[in-house]
Amino acid sequence: MLAQPGQRLTAVDIEIADGAIRRISSAGENPAPQGAEEIDGAGLLAMPGLVNAHSHSPENCLRGVGEGLLLEPWLLRMFGSSGLYTAEDHYVNAMAGAVEMLLLGVTTVVDHLWMTPPSLDGVAGAVRAYEEVGIRAGVAPLMNDCDFTGELADAIEFDLGPALMSEQVRFLEPDDLLAQFEEAVSRWHGSSDGRIRILAGPGGVQWCSDELLGGLADAARNHGTGLHIHLLETFLQKAVCEKRFGRSGVAALEDLGVLGPNCSLPHSVWIEEEDIDRIVATDSIVVHNPAANLRLGSGRCPVGRLHERGGRVAVGTDGSASSDNQNLWEMVKLAALIHNDGPRWVSGADAITMATTAGHGVLAPGDRPDGRIVEGAVADLILLDQSADGLAGVQMLEAGLALSESGRSVRHVIVDGRVVVRDGRLTTVDADAVRSALREQVERRRRDVEAPPASTGDAMSRMNTFIRSLGESAATVSSQDRRR
Ligand SMILES: [Zn+2]
Repeated sequence: MLAQPGQRLTAVDIEIADGAIRRISSAGENPAPQGAEEIDGAGLLAMPGLVNAHSHSPENCLRGVGEGLLLEPWLLRMFGSSGLYTAEDHYVNAMAGAVEMLLLGVTTVVDHLWMTPPSLDGVAGAVRAYEEVGIRAGVAPLMNDCDFTGELADAIEFDLGPALMSEQVRFLEPDDLLAQFEEAVSRWHGSSDGRIRILAGPGGVQWCSDELLGGLADAARNHGTGLHIHLLETFLQKAVCEKRFGRSGVAALEDLGVLGPNCSLPHSVWIEEEDIDRIVATDSIVVHNPAANLRLGSGRCPVGRLHERGGRVAVGTDGSASSDNQNLWEMVKLAALIHNDGPRWVSGADAITMATTAGHGVLAPGDRPDGRIVEGAVADLILLDQSADGLAGVQMLEAGLALSESGRSVRHVIVDGRVVVRDGRLTTVDADAVRSALREQVERRRRDVEAPPASTGDAMSRMNTFIRSLGESAATVSSQDRRR
C-alpha cells in the first residue's frame, strides 16, 4: 500500500466504516467484523484515489474543438458554436466525465460548471449525475458579470467589435448570481453524506466585477466552503488586470478578500514573484493544468517555484475541449515532465502529492488528512493491478506511478467507503448507456460546431489581431520568458 508518497506499507488490512478509514493494522490482526464486505488485495497496490482539481463538465461533448487557437479566440469559437444546454445535457456531460474518471481511478472532481446561462436547473443536472454515479464532487457554478477586455482594447484604441463573448453567454447581475449561489448551497452543499460540496466559482478576475468577487468570497467563507477562480491563464488576462487595477490581478484578489486557504486558483500561469508571495502567504492553492495550457498556447505555471516556497499546488485536466479527455494520470505525467528544462524539477512523488493530498485541499478547507490512506481520512482509495501493463515493469514506485501508469491498472475504486468500480466495471450506472447519451449529444451539436456563425469568425479574427497588437503573442512571450 502507498499511504502517501514516501510511505509504503505491506501486509496490512484497511478497515473502512462510515465513509472513512477507521483502522490500518497488520494483516490478520483484526478479523473483519461480521457482515463486512472484504476485498482481497493480493497482487494489488492500494493508494489514495486521484483528485481532478479543475474541470468543466459541459465540454465532455466538445472534444477536439478549436484546435490551434489561443485561449481567447478558442473561447469565442467554443461559446459561439456549442449551443445551449438543458439540465439533462448537463446531467449527461457530468455523468460521462465521471464514468471516465472513476474507471481510471479518479475519485474526486472539481467541476467549475459553466452554463449558458447560469441556472439552478443546470447545477441540479450536474449534481444529480455525481450523486448517482458515486464520485466525490465539488461543484462550483461558474459566474461572470462583465468582461474588462474591452476596456484594455479601448485604452489602446482598438475596436474589438460588439462580440467579446457570444450572445449565449449572458451576464447576469451580481445580486442575482449571489442569490443563485446561496440557493445552490442551501440545496446541495453537503448532500450525499457530504460527498457533494458547492463551491463559489467566479469565472476569472477579468470577467467579474469587484462586487461579485467580494460577494462570492464572503459567501464562501460564511458557508465554510471553497472558492474556485481561474487566475491569469494568458498574457492578455495579465494585461487586462494591470489596466483595470493598476496592479496585478493577484494583488487585487488579495485586497478584495478572495485569497485564503479556501481559495483555489486554476492556471496561475502569468504570476510574478510578488504574486507567488501573496499566494503562499495566504495559503491559497494553485491548480496546475498542463495539458490545457499547452493546447491553448498559454504558457506554464511556475510549479517548481511554488513548491520551493512551500506553496500548495494541485492538478487538473481542465475541460475536455482544451485537454480532450479527463485522464488525470496524463496530467500527473505532464506535471512531472514539462518543468524539467528549469532549475526546479517536479518529481513523480511531487506530482502524485499534487493529485491526491493537494487536490483534497481544494474541496475541503481545513486540516483534514484526506488524500492519504491514514486513519480518519475519507475512504477514497483505488486498487491497482501490479501485474498489468502500467505497473508490471516498475522499479521505483512513485516515479512509476507518475510516469508509467495511465489508469490501465485500476481494478477497484472506493469512494466514501463504497465500491463504485469492481473488477474494472462500474457498480452504480450503466457506462455504455451513458456513452450512448453522450454520443447523441455530440451528434446533435455537430452541425453548429462544424460551422460556427460568421459573427464568431469575425470576433475571433478581431481578438487575434488585438492580442498581436499588444506587442507579442502570448505564445511567443511564453516561449521566451516563461522557461521555468
Ligand atoms: Zn478552466
